[in-house]
Amino acid sequence: MSKKQFKAESKRLLDLMINSIYTHKEIFLRELISNASDASDKLYYKALTENLSDINKEDLKIEIKIDKNERSLTLIDHGIGMNKEELEENLGTIAKSGSLSFKEELKKSEENNSDVDIIGQFGVGFYAAFMVASKVTVLSKKYGEDEAYLWSSEGEEGYSLEKSMKSDHGTTITLYLKSNTDDENYDEYLDEYTLQSLVKKYSDYVRYPIMMDMTTSKKKEDSDEYEDIIETKTLNSMVPLWKRSKSDITAEEYNEFYKDKFNDYTDPLKVIHTSVEGNVSFDALLFIPSKAPMNYYSQDYEKGLQLYSRGVFIMDKASELIPEHFRFVKGLVDSQDLSLNISREMLQHDRQLKVIEGRIEKKIKSELANMLKNDREHYEEFYKNFGLQLKYGIYQSYGMKKDLLQDLLMYYSANEEKMITLKEYVEHMKEDQKHIYFASGESIEKISKLPQCELLKDKGYDLLYMVDNVDEFCIQMMQEFEEKTFKNIAQGDLDLETEEEKKELEKQNEENKEMLESIKTALGDKVVDVKVSSRLKSHPVCLVSSDGISFEMEKVLSQMPGQEDMPMKAGKILEINPNHPIFNALQEMKDEEQIKDYSQLLYDQALLIEGFDVEDPIEFSNKICELMIKAKVAQ
Ligand code: ADP
Ligand code: MG
Repeated sequence: MSKKQFKAESKRLLDLMINSIYTHKEIFLRELISNASDASDKLYYKALTENLSDINKEDLKIEIKIDKNERSLTLIDHGIGMNKEELEENLGTIAKSGSLSFKEELKKSEENNSDVDIIGQFGVGFYAAFMVASKVTVLSKKYGEDEAYLWSSEGEEGYSLEKSMKSDHGTTITLYLKSNTDDENYDEYLDEYTLQSLVKKYSDYVRYPIMMDMTTSKKKEDSDEYEDIIETKTLNSMVPLWKRSKSDITAEEYNEFYKDKFNDYTDPLKVIHTSVEGNVSFDALLFIPSKAPMNYYSQDYEKGLQLYSRGVFIMDKASELIPEHFRFVKGLVDSQDLSLNISREMLQHDRQLKVIEGRIEKKIKSELANMLKNDREHYEEFYKNFGLQLKYGIYQSYGMKKDLLQDLLMYYSANEEKMITLKEYVEHMKEDQKHIYFASGESIEKISKLPQCELLKDKGYDLLYMVDNVDEFCIQMMQEFEEKTFKNIAQGDLDLETEEEKKELEKQNEENKEMLESIKTALGDKVVDVKVSSRLKSHPVCLVSSDGISFEMEKVLSQMPGQEDMPMKAGKILEINPNHPIFNALQEMKDEEQIKDYSQLLYDQALLIEGFDVEDPIEFSNKICELMIKAKVAQ
């Protein structure tokens, strides 16, 4: 019998388990039972879809056996089993998703030396057995095959695999417990009551009976003597959590269920447990995570809910069950109206599934709206993590999801200095206000310094700050909210002036026509127009974009691939503050060269303020130097 080595990363994980000082070693039992339950699911599913007559649900029990003499604990399942290749593949390498993400965390934790707490955060799977056992054997026979194999390992040294004997299909795992130490009493895992409570705690909802012989002492009939009676007991209640009545389920049960099933280590922000009767009936247990998973905004993230039919697991991550804009929701759906034979391809065309998706969409929406209304703090936390997704939802649906999602949006308000909803903005609008004003930029700080903001704030109008790339695209899709149109304060007409002010502005533009023209000529095709500004207070100049593409949109678009040849540009209008001394200086300027230099400098300054690069930084700096020298000479 030859010893085989574990693959490198398995060895690392194994070392970690063997030397673990983790305090919740008890989770090993949960992991092994969950594997037994998976294996039973696989066989039961096969039996249903292939009409296997030799498989009965009643036979698919999971048994626990204790042997105090050899200090061993054995788990027996009658599931699908593993053949030789599978034993090698599944128990010799880390190939599975849960363990894979664990592996990634492991890498990180190696850097900061905190092995311990990550064990609880993931389903670490089979290797968890080595936290409590010095030797583990796995005897397995695959359903439908003749040969059984025995896998055996004492940890680091590697494992052996040999042909063996087993009468029926399934897997028997035996753990030979470690010797007790001063800190650790492994004997407790030979105690019936400890095991019973561990099963209740971690595996109560497993749908197969978990059975164990339990000793109770009973009074003999017609005598005062007691005798030990051994009875086989089912330790778990077997009712899936989502089938139980909500009022009987504690928050902790929901949380544990979520963390265990969906590989998260923080409690969910929100649990949604719902049961729908109708054309299509189903139970759904949904969770909103409290943090966006690391890969959430990347292509790696896979959305979807687990799908069950009458309590039988059909598939993981059925993406058809959850709309794109709520893709952060995790959970499961169990319906009695679905065929077990449904395949991934069929899901896309399944009408019942569409109905379920629609109901789930409505439910999530109303739960979020409730949270916003009654539990603002949590809602804002949710929004920090997933608000972006809602905006994408409106944008990517070309506005079709506007009605569903617009009330859930929040933006930073300049006046209130906190996040507010669009409804709140509109409620606080000034009487004559026609638009929802907003400004875009990289950060709240940067936006608040934009010259265009000053006048609005001065006049007492509130402003929403948009800091996400998708913001303006989303707003373009929405167009209006409660009949108030959105207005970018750095774009087009602000519509703020009184009739008189408008006339005054026209007059100023007329009177300074020549000067404005010569600046425009000096700047050539960099600008589409040069105007006297009505939106500036203390700043000399600003850039405004003409209607259409805004500056922020130009920046976003320029970063997209394939834009190099035909970049989308915002039409830039240079506005000059007529109340700024520079305006008079320009009015008096006669020298064409000087006008050119000043125009260029003012334009560059405006670019910088808007967060664009100046086209020629060296030229810009040279011009400033020249001016500085001239100023010095003139003193
Ligand atoms: P995971 O359960 O996340 O896939 P584990 O480390 O717990 O990872 O198990 C690895 C794999 O070993 C399982 O995916 C399964 O294929 C196989 N396996 C483990 N235990 C059993 C079992 N009792 N019966 C059949 N296969 C099993
Ligand atoms: Mg597992």
